[in-house]
Amino acid sequence: MLPYLSIDSFNKEIHLIVPEWLFLKCGPVRDHAVVVSKNLFIAVGMVSTIKSEFPDLVPTDLPGTLLMPGFIDTHHHLTSAFGKALVFGEPSEIWRRVWVPLERHLDEEHLYLASKLASLEALRGGFTTVCEAGTRGTLGVDAISRATTEVGIKCVLGLICNDLDGNKTPQNSDLIIDRALKHILKWHSHNLVHPSLSVSIPEAATNGILAKISAICAESNCVFQTHANEHLSTVERSLELLNMRPIEHLYSIGALGPQALLAHATLVTPTELKMIYDTGSAVSYNPVASAWKGNAVAPALLMMALGIRFGIGTDGTRSDGFRLMDYAEAAQRFVFGIPVGDSSCGGGWTWVDQATAHGADVLKLGQTTGEIAVGKDADFLLIDLQVPEMLPSWDISWELVRLANRDQIIGVFVSGKLRLWKGWPTDWDARSLMAQISASAKKIVSQAPIIKIHKTRN
Ligand SMILES: [Zn+2]
Repeated sequence: MLPYLSIDSFNKEIHLIVPEWLFLKCGPVRDHAVVVSKNLFIAVGMVSTIKSEFPDLVPTDLPGTLLMPGFIDTHHHLTSAFGKALVFGEPSEIWRRVWVPLERHLDEEHLYLASKLASLEALRGGFTTVCEAGTRGTLGVDAISRATTEVGIKCVLGLICNDLDGNKTPQNSDLIIDRALKHILKWHSHNLVHPSLSVSIPEAATNGILAKISAICAESNCVFQTHANEHLSTVERSLELLNMRPIEHLYSIGALGPQALLAHATLVTPTELKMIYDTGSAVSYNPVASAWKGNAVAPALLMMALGIRFGIGTDGTRSDGFRLMDYAEAAQRFVFGIPVGDSSCGGGWTWVDQATAHGADVLKLGQTTGEIAVGKDADFLLIDLQVPEMLPSWDISWELVRLANRDQIIGVFVSGKLRLWKGWPTDWDARSLMAQISASAKKIVSQAPIIKIHKTRN
């Protein structure tokens, strides 16, 4: 780590940064520099060119450092941050037994504290954007937006629009649609919060609402989120009720399209893959979720070969961009690569791209983030490469996937602003937040009507 660097080194209106390595869309390059002005990259190019274009700027030289795009988490549940190891070892559909009972038990303040903790964890793991799948009730949405904005992370904020949700009689669809439209209107031009609409799982809404909410997203150029084909029980319930699998169901009512983001899509048939491709829908590949509570691993490399758009998501499991990429590659190796002798499973660069630029694309933020390029928001990480694990360095892309560690993240910048320095926020007191959570979270969670199959040991 560079001893002379400090937070003040980056406290400038316009800033010329010269890292040893810069991660561009074409891969890592040397002898390149960027200029950040306010929230944007206004110049990216060869050091000599940039210095001659901006002769008045004093460059900040960062030897031994990589400047790379921030990670994009395409599927999160920020309000679940108090659960953590509570769900470890539990069988699938933990949302029924743990997450929904917990979420309904938390008041607005606790939803806010949980979301702020999760947002901080995300920044510490190198994420500059998270996609929130949605929480029940308006209180949760307000709590999440307050938390993510204070932490300074970008958030694609899903509003749950279920009209069934366990009930046989649908709720008033006009009210749901009205709330959805207001949500989009409220956030459509915010710099950190981007509106999105969600239906938790297809069975939680009527066909009318599923189709309408998806259509509103298409018209508003925002993302329609739903969990699809994650668990065997959900797939079988759909078959029993409708004689269709969940993705077939969404397809049959016209709810798929470029606006649709399907979380998980692990138990997918060839027919469903074709439906996803034909409609231009996107997928959040969530490999850690598969390992911890899933029934399968999404065929991400097959999706890529077919031209299906996908990003990588944590599903609220663990906010660590490097370990997420490692899992993304390893899960493909274990399940699909080893049986057919595929030793590279896309190569390291594939997973860096999926965790950055492709993640931005599936969230409809490809115009503004996900890569280091002129005109894009300055959402980036400074990574310390001077660690034993990456010496000697032969291939930075592969090394980021298999060797890099979260503690190498020196700085996290969102829209040009330094939000995290050596793991801690620059403008608010994270330890005070942690103390507040330590004082109340365990008591609150223990009072929620959670059903666990396994007992905890402390
Ligand atoms: Zn989820």
